[in-house]
Amino acid sequence: MKSSIIFGCILSGFGALWSVGDAIKPAPLGGITCVCTLCPNKTCHTDGVCLTQVVRQKDGVVVRWDNCLAKYQLFPPEHPFLCLVSEALRETNAVGCCAEGDLCNRDLNVTLAEPLTLAPASAASTGDPWETSGSRQLIIGIVAAVIVVLVLLAALGVFMWRRHTTQLAAKAPGGKEAMRLLEEGQSGALSALVGEMTTSGSGSGLPLLIQRTIARQVSLINPIGKGRYGEVYLGRWQGENIAVKMFSTRDEASWKREVEMYQTVMLRHENLLGFIAADNKDNGLVTQLWLLTEYHELGSLYDYLTRTPVDVPGMLRLCFSLANGLAHLHMEIVGVSTLGKPAIAHRDLKSKNILVKRNLQCAIADLGLAVAYDHTGHINLPHNDKVGTVRYLPPEVLDSNLNLTNFESIKAVDVYALALVLWEICHRCAFAGPAAEYELPYANDVPGDPDVGQMREVVVVKKTRPSIHNQWSTREPMQTMCRLMRECWYPNPQARLTALRVKKTIAQLVATGDVKI
Ligand code: ADP
Ligand code: MG
Repeated sequence: MKSSIIFGCILSGFGALWSVGDAIKPAPLGGITCVCTLCPNKTCHTDGVCLTQVVRQKDGVVVRWDNCLAKYQLFPPEHPFLCLVSEALRETNAVGCCAEGDLCNRDLNVTLAEPLTLAPASAASTGDPWETSGSRQLIIGIVAAVIVVLVLLAALGVFMWRRHTTQLAAKAPGGKEAMRLLEEGQSGALSALVGEMTTSGSGSGLPLLIQRTIARQVSLINPIGKGRYGEVYLGRWQGENIAVKMFSTRDEASWKREVEMYQTVMLRHENLLGFIAADNKDNGLVTQLWLLTEYHELGSLYDYLTRTPVDVPGMLRLCFSLANGLAHLHMEIVGVSTLGKPAIAHRDLKSKNILVKRNLQCAIADLGLAVAYDHTGHINLPHNDKVGTVRYLPPEVLDSNLNLTNFESIKAVDVYALALVLWEICHRCAFAGPAAEYELPYANDVPGDPDVGQMREVVVVKKTRPSIHNQWSTREPMQTMCRLMRECWYPNPQARLTALRVKKTIAQLVATGDVKI
């Protein structure tokens, strides 16, 4: 018999789900007569459906009830709740409805599930294949649907994540084009990115994920320098040269500080070393801290001047670009939310921490001791006690008189060191005669590796400064350069010029003079 038995629900991990068979057909016009257990003449008439209910009582006795259900009781009309029973109750309750003709519920097969047996048992016992295969199909269907939903959610998650990282990458300075080159591993990509980031003066660097990717793909070629903290290597990434500075974990604070400084928004400048990436690699035994920057094959200003004398345009170019870089570092840019830049003091300015670019401009490097100051009045002092290179320390530091709470005083420390570096450049300049051999400042006054006491004796007590050659004062542009040096190494830090003043004066010198740089 084609019945419209609707059997209870299936319990799944998601709660009770109704098993719904054929839709209930409404009674024909004029209604139908049903078997009715409790009615006086054992029948009832209805405009709805005939109902049969089988109940296992507490004492185990199974009782069958037949009855009528009125049309208004059928909700929802196709699969009325009163014709359904919960799966959890299938061993004690079974319901069937029909409306296919008078007394249709007389022969309606409504059976309880066998106690402790699974869903198909009742159907098997009735010999109705619909119950067994229908329930099974439904379970399979639900499991399949759940799997499909989970797969879709996972796919959506992956899609959103990829879109997020791509957007991050695309937002990075350098834009989409450079990102594409980077992804395709094309040579020139890094230069394009770093170049774009530098000229736009915008961001704080590449997204961290890309930084890490680059760092993990670099191959080291050979060592190129050694400073206070790290060994510096020439590295190669996708055919491009980059510098890799490695710190030991002992100097983690310095690595962190330098990375933090380079990632300062708007720090990028043509006269500051171009930061590319930072990474910390842990192989389980040791941690390597890496800092990747642009590589400058001419090396440090110290290396360059040791090898090569400079002519007047070269001297002016080096001096101007150095002052330009330092002025940018020192300058605070007050901007809306993240768009500002704190003032930064270098605190270890010297010719070994300045690189020479191929266009003979300086790029200030080694921000391991730098301190930042923003207009909130906060000076972000490093957590180490190193105070720069003794040879380049100004009188107030040698005398332990530096006012660390006043940022102008901290910048004046850099200006004193700037004066010494300007002197190093001018000393190596062929001006009114052949260039002198390279000399460190105070080379004739202190030993190779002076201590604070020796430097103090020369700089504070004797008030000695690097010697200004007589012929320098005879004409421009050296005259002005001499004046700048003197005004930058005054004993009184407050009397010293600012880096910006030095930059502007050299710019004027070039603009009004007949030397092109
Ligand atoms: P440290 O913090 O250990 O003093 P520096 O950053 O000053 O390290 O680098 C040490 C030396 O390595 C520099 O004096 C310079 O000779 C060389 N060097 C550093 N960075 C670069 C670079 N980007 N390109 C070329 N040479 C570099
Ligand atoms: Mg250094």
